Amino acid sequence: MAVILDGKATAARVKTQVAEEVALLKTKGVAVGLAVVIVGDDPASRVYVNNKKKDCEAVGIHSEEFTMPAATTQEELVTLIKTLNSRSDINGILVQLPLPKPLDEKSVINTIAVEKDVDAFHPVNVGRIMIGDFDFLPCTPAGIMELIDVSGVAVEGKECVVIGRSNIVGKPMAMLLLHRNGTVTVCHSRTKNLKEITLRADILVAAVGRPQFVTEDMVKPGAVVIDVGMDRLPDGKLCGDVDYDAVSKKAGYITPVPGGVGPMTRAMLLKNTIKAAKLQNNID
Ligand code: NAP
Repeated sequence: MAVILDGKATAARVKTQVAEEVALLKTKGVAVGLAVVIVGDDPASRVYVNNKKKDCEAVGIHSEEFTMPAATTQEELVTLIKTLNSRSDINGILVQLPLPKPLDEKSVINTIAVEKDVDAFHPVNVGRIMIGDFDFLPCTPAGIMELIDVSGVAVEGKECVVIGRSNIVGKPMAMLLLHRNGTVTVCHSRTKNLKEITLRADILVAAVGRPQFVTEDMVKPGAVVIDVGMDRLPDGKLCGDVDYDAVSKKAGYITPVPGGVGPMTRAMLLKNTIKAAKLQNNID
């Protein structure tokens, strides 16, 4: 049976460290602040934003929510972000995606000050990840790297396979594994002979968005299997991209859903916000 990589417990440890750092920063006169912008009334976005606020509260980060109607114009949203960019009490700015149509996400993200971009979605931060000279990492891949570290398996020299090439998960994930000297293959919907490739993986990251897509016959015995998916079975039950029951009998390490990557993603946002506050106040 695979060792479970417990995202909840790991995230709790990260949060304890963050809370300590927040307290330390307070003694230096720095109160850490995060602005969370939500446009429209998408129920999933509402849940994510509420969770982020709760997480901030738990570690002593001041969070301010800006709720805007779905009919908000591009100009109104950009004006708000520019105001937040200029506020010294706001260290991080997060715009909950997706934005309702016809708002242009790209130009909204481009407006966020690079040093306050705690999601690491701004093209400058994306480029800095590419060259390995970054301040912020996108929260999901960063959280996954911490979970791989918990396994104790060194990435260097390993065959790493990432299924999915989205800008927020697959691509940055591949880059982080490459920075750690993994031999990385990125698969996507046009990949031929997927199983042949995944069977080589010492570290397999599934970010597909399809319930139980990765089956036991696609996994190398003893592999580290990271399940990013947040999917629903026909009966509405939450599950991941990996057929957990079968794969956990073959893998060496596996992340559960829920309780794996999800809590780590949330914890990494807090870490990035601390980093932003330190950078903006010239604190190491
Ligand atoms: P996405 O933007 O929809 O990307 C999915 C990727 O999977 C695409 O690159 C797509 O290939 C690839 N794909 C689809 N069908 C495939 C197939 N049959 N074979 C191989 N590759 C295939 O999704 P995402 O934003 O990366 O998210 C992926 C999953 O992770 C979703 O379930 C999402 O909810 C979840 N997620 C979880 C967290 C968390 O914190 N736990 C965070 C973010 C996302 P093409 O590029 O060719 O279309």
